[in-house]
Amino acid sequence: MKLSEHIRISKRAIRHLFTLSRSYAACLILNAFLQSLMPYVPIYFSARLIDGLYEKQPVQTLALYVGLTVGIVFLLSLLSAYLSSRRDIADNELNLSEQWTFSQKAMQMAYASIEDPEVTLLRKRIAMESQTGYDLWYLTSSTERLVFSVTRILASLSMTLSFFFLEGIPLFMKLGFAGGILLTILCGAFASRKSEAIFSRFLDTAVHLNVFQGKYYDYIGHYSSGKDIRLYDMAKGLLDFNVGTMTEFNRHALAMCQKQAALKAADIALSHVLRFCVYLILLYAALSGRITLGSIARYVSCVMLLLTAASEAVANFQRALVNHTYLKRYFSYLDIQNPMYQGSLTVEKRDDNEYFVEFCDVSFRYPNTETYALRHVNLKFKIGEKLAIVGKNGSGKTTFIKLMCRLYDPTEGKILLNGVDIRKYDYDEYMSIFSIVFQDFRLFGFRLGENVAASPSYDPGRAAHCLEQAGFGKRLAAMPEGADSFLFKEFDDSGIEISGGEAQKIALARALYKDAPFLILDEPTSALDPVSEYEVYSSFNEIAGDKTAIYISHRLASCRFCDKIAVFDAGSIVQTGSHEALIRQNQGLYHRLWHAQAQYYTKDAAGV
Ligand code: ADP
Repeated sequence: MKLSEHIRISKRAIRHLFTLSRSYAACLILNAFLQSLMPYVPIYFSARLIDGLYEKQPVQTLALYVGLTVGIVFLLSLLSAYLSSRRDIADNELNLSEQWTFSQKAMQMAYASIEDPEVTLLRKRIAMESQTGYDLWYLTSSTERLVFSVTRILASLSMTLSFFFLEGIPLFMKLGFAGGILLTILCGAFASRKSEAIFSRFLDTAVHLNVFQGKYYDYIGHYSSGKDIRLYDMAKGLLDFNVGTMTEFNRHALAMCQKQAALKAADIALSHVLRFCVYLILLYAALSGRITLGSIARYVSCVMLLLTAASEAVANFQRALVNHTYLKRYFSYLDIQNPMYQGSLTVEKRDDNEYFVEFCDVSFRYPNTETYALRHVNLKFKIGEKLAIVGKNGSGKTTFIKLMCRLYDPTEGKILLNGVDIRKYDYDEYMSIFSIVFQDFRLFGFRLGENVAASPSYDPGRAAHCLEQAGFGKRLAAMPEGADSFLFKEFDDSGIEISGGEAQKIALARALYKDAPFLILDEPTSALDPVSEYEVYSSFNEIAGDKTAIYISHRLASCRFCDKIAVFDAGSIVQTGSHEALIRQNQGLYHRLWHAQAQYYTKDAAGV
């Protein structure tokens, strides 16, 4: 990575830290600064005290030095303790803020990016690397340590600088003194650079082991795995897997520690030889009466602090550089642009509820694919109509809905709402007119009512009504806490477990609660038992009321009650019309599919 890029990333990283939590960043830097300065107060005043004693200064002056030392250190310690506790509190804010930034990014991203495997991989890599210690943790720790050590270097230099201006000390000694310090720093830098490279290689190896470990805890930690683990006697296998991962991790960790320890030992030995030489020079200067006793104490302490701080600064600087590679990836995720045109038109709130949607010669290819999922689709429908979309799997039904609710923009052609291209509407406003139940809907481990309202606050009566409409009434009545019951056991031990069919009913209730003019159901009865399926069909007109309902299914029997049926085949609409009209077209796909399915059901019923 080029120097300019390092500078750019480090600037952005600091800005990012302040954006995530201003108080965390401020406390971190201020506290590191204070902590770093703390030892210089006793060093400075002790030197004055020793000289004062030697020169037989008045007791009041000596007492003043003692008082100032203790008083200033006391105040600095208080301030530092306050900043530390503020930082600990802000730590939570920092982590939440980071999670929020990532979640918000995912929500603002074009849906195409969310489905893009490369983006998914990028997100996973960042999660793994952050979990391993790179990114934010490295950023905070290296920023803190860099502020600490740079402050120490400056403070130590300012308190040792006078040595070079002392008269009577031979030049070679001054040069030897400076050279000794420089050499110690260089040796430390070399050792820490090597050590950092070893650590970084270890972390790279540990990334995938961390993922395995995380997965292992996912499996054994989630209560839903309990059944399978017991039933198939998987405990030993899982344990062996974990022991294997841990053993490999420890093997790498041990190898790393051994290499680092050897380097450290060499570095410590060399730096102590050099420190010894620095002591000798100072001793010589003192014995020849060129510096006071207090100054010796001050120089010795400051030089030792300087040496440690310098090697720490180098080590942390190198850590920061290593982290830049990971931060680059981290920021690349936050930088993913949403290429979809962001309109600003408000969706007209019509009293007459007269909305109509029109697909005008729409063709669509998924990103990074060659084949069209939809080809020259033309369709117009208006509010109040019940439209069924039928066709074999993979014929483009779900893609049609994804385009209608602007999860993707058409590759060719356009979609109009009340005659205006849907891209021109404000996206959130446009989405507000749709209630959709996708096949892969998701329920959360919150209260049932919260799931239905898709919000932490909900109207219990309305939630219960929607659940009843969706066929969940009896189950709701049997639940002691009604809509306040938790789903699943993630947040509450008394949470209820639900079947796939029940989940689908709750998802349907959620769509009804939103009460949007368009109700879209993608295979809404696939997980329902035949009785529940029948209930949904027979009450569908009542459920949908005066909304425009779009009903997607590959089971033709479930679409008969719709006003209009569009038959999809290989991405195109090949037929439209009512059930009666379509069934009469003997050569049509609908007729063929209908009879094929009827035959299937007949065989099925006969127990073939
Ligand atoms: P249906 O709902 O009728 O089963 P879909 O609309 O889901 O069909 O799929 C239509 C075509 O688009 C299929 O060939 C499918 O493989 C392809 N497809 C669906 N989703 C994606 C995607 N995210 N990326 C690439 N191709 C996709």
